[in-house]
Amino acid sequence: MLKPADWNNTKRYYDLKSFWRNRFGSRVYKLQIDAGFTCPNRDGTVSTGGCIYCDGRGSRLRQAGPLPSVSEQIRKGKEYYTTHRNAGKFIAYFQTFTNTYGPLDKLRALYEEALAEDDVVGLSVGTRPDCIPDDVIDLFQGYAKHSHVWLELGLQSIHNRTLQCINRGHSAETYINAVHRASGKNIHICTHIIVGLPGETQENMLETARVIATLPIQGIKIHLLLALKGTVMGDLYEQAKITLLSKEEYITTVCDMLEILPPEMVIQRLTADGYRDIFLAPQWAVNKMEVLNAIDRELERRNTFQGIRYVKNG
Ligand code: SF4
Repeated sequence: MLKPADWNNTKRYYDLKSFWRNRFGSRVYKLQIDAGFTCPNRDGTVSTGGCIYCDGRGSRLRQAGPLPSVSEQIRKGKEYYTTHRNAGKFIAYFQTFTNTYGPLDKLRALYEEALAEDDVVGLSVGTRPDCIPDDVIDLFQGYAKHSHVWLELGLQSIHNRTLQCINRGHSAETYINAVHRASGKNIHICTHIIVGLPGETQENMLETARVIATLPIQGIKIHLLLALKGTVMGDLYEQAKITLLSKEEYITTVCDMLEILPPEMVIQRLTADGYRDIFLAPQWAVNKMEVLNAIDRELERRNTFQGIRYVKNG
């Protein structure tokens, strides 16, 4: 198998920047939006504790005071990227907490406020797999007729015992069901996973990638588990009750995953973001560029690339 020529890039995986360029012929930026949503895993509907790694504070914008409207957030983001990055097209990224958690009319109003802005070519909506009813999928399907739509589903691990351990509040089956309900509707599906969750072996993590590789999804975000102050995970770390991955373990696992995933799957993220003010560990993760470079070097050393071990329908 050869590296796919249609990536049109010099990377050994199909990165998001290349995908945007191939799809739109220009730079595209995701504008992060905090539309004021909450999360059923925090407000008591599913649970009150939230996922054990989640700091629960929401965006920096929310922490700073009353939230500006969606259109104000978009205009401000556009101004920045147009001036500093020469960007011309944008995706409105509903990022904070669970962005399908609300009545349909409210969701429609927020998404359409975003789509009405000039140069916004689509939406990316982050949510939980237990919070994506069919009427919301229908709404996205309608938008997908004229816009570029991504549904970002948090999974984290395909193993139910891990999902229970991290208090996700949904099962792997709920995720798989959500994927199948949303697929075949011109909606791009992106799955979020976390590498290094408590109790998982490297084989467990690769199993998550193997299952994802069999599903009709178009993108993935691979995060590293971080310990943040004020979270259960942070407490466990400070009490020396959990061990976080070394940089070498993370790089090896990510490269193994990339080899397993389909070559056409867009790799949207390969590092983790944590607020510096509450960051505890692992220290090596702070230098994100070095982590990305180390992944490039490891793929080069192996002389492999994304998809080289992908087994179709396997
Ligand atoms: S689903 Fe997301 S927002 Fe909700 S508790 Fe988990 S990580 Fe936090």
